[in-house]
Amino acid sequence: MKTNRIFNLSAVLICAAFALSACGGGGSGGSAHVHQWGEWTVAEAPTCEEEGTEKRTCALDPTHVETRSVAALDHQWSTAWAQDENGHYHVCERGCGSRKDEAAHTYSAGACSACGYIHHDHEYESGVCNVCGSRLYTESEDGAKICFGEYPQSEVKEEAVVSALTEKAGSLPEEGNAGGWTSYGYYYGGEVTDYMWYIDVELNGSKYRGVYFTLERNSRTGVDYLSYQEENGYLTNTVYWFRFEPIEWRVLERVDGTVLLMADIILDGGHFYRDGESRTKDDETIYPNNYMESDIRKWLIENFYETAFSDAAKQIIETTTVDNHTAGSDNPYLCEDTRDKVFLLSSAEVENQSYGFVTSSSADATRQLKATDYAKAQGIQPQEGTDCFSWWLRTPEKQAKGKTVFRVSEKGQVQGGAFWMGGGEYVDFTRNGIVPALRLHL
Ligand SMILES: [Zn+2]
Ligand SMILES: [Zn+2]
Ligand SMILES: [Zn+2]
Ligand SMILES: [Zn+2]
Repeated sequence: MKTNRIFNLSAVLICAAFALSACGGGGSGGSAHVHQWGEWTVAEAPTCEEEGTEKRTCALDPTHVETRSVAALDHQWSTAWAQDENGHYHVCERGCGSRKDEAAHTYSAGACSACGYIHHDHEYESGVCNVCGSRLYTESEDGAKICFGEYPQSEVKEEAVVSALTEKAGSLPEEGNAGGWTSYGYYYGGEVTDYMWYIDVELNGSKYRGVYFTLERNSRTGVDYLSYQEENGYLTNTVYWFRFEPIEWRVLERVDGTVLLMADIILDGGHFYRDGESRTKDDETIYPNNYMESDIRKWLIENFYETAFSDAAKQIIETTTVDNHTAGSDNPYLCEDTRDKVFLLSSAEVENQSYGFVTSSSADATRQLKATDYAKAQGIQPQEGTDCFSWWLRTPEKQAKGKTVFRVSEKGQVQGGAFWMGGGEYVDFTRNGIVPALRLHL
């Protein structure tokens, strides 16, 4: 650029010499003339930082060139805030990299009140981020509820958000080509089949889960069995989006700085174990209703735990010794106690008065649970005249050769103790809700 300028400068001098001789009117040199300048054109465009140049050329002799400088540009400031983890600022949209009005975020409850930036790398101390003030958990005023962790829950209905998310998700998955999506690995007619997928997408600082299926999810793993998805309003070949929202937990017990929590709404749905037949492991018979060896336990401690909780949140979840012995001494299907971060409640626990339940297995509102849109999209079974659904317990039932476990019905009955209560539930049904429980130290 510098070389150019020097060249241009000398060109101007040459032209000036000719111009002078022309104006002198001596008529001595044959090459002397009055320049016939063309239009000014951009030789070098100005930027925010440097002047530019324009030039014009003489029509009578193209070696006659005149140049002039053009003022540097004003920055063109963005109207919206630009952001990074340190602060917000207006940035020059001409791409020069200049910033103005740069300031640190002013956080309030996790987001910058000026620019909306959401803090991510929280530094928690006693459950509160010392950068942004967001809390690992919040408690209701009466102490009966705690919000903690996040899971896809409400369906997104705003068309603009749905189309932005669907565009971000890219091409739709198909069998053998999931693209950016993940197959749930659900069963169809007894086989794991790729027909239902999900994808997690962030948009404007919020997280969403897209769900898409090309076949209806069977309500039993072992056979091609009717589905409840359509009845719940979810159809094949359509993408549905669910917002990750704080999970609301019911406080069952407070003891020694810990709280025992159960999700206060059905969060998901699926089978307890994939197969209704017994199997052998290390020369021991494993019955389908064995909680320790169940798919639902694996799902809770792997899938649910990883999806719902940040690394910081995991730090305050206790490893709980889960009592798998309490369903009567004559029950041959009880398994060893397990030590887990997340678990299902037992039949005894949902009849524990100190947890706020009634001490009986009959219908009761304290055990009746509604379900999230996301759980409904998973195919839990709707019932006439109620918006509550049944949900799994971890307790094996002693009838039915180890094929059934206890559950809570949509009416809040504890089903499994006796046939007149409706009996237990076969483990391979996917129609029941999942209600995780866990213990936190606060
Ligand atoms: Zn000329
Ligand atoms: Zn600029
Ligand atoms: Zn900010
Ligand atoms: Zn933070």
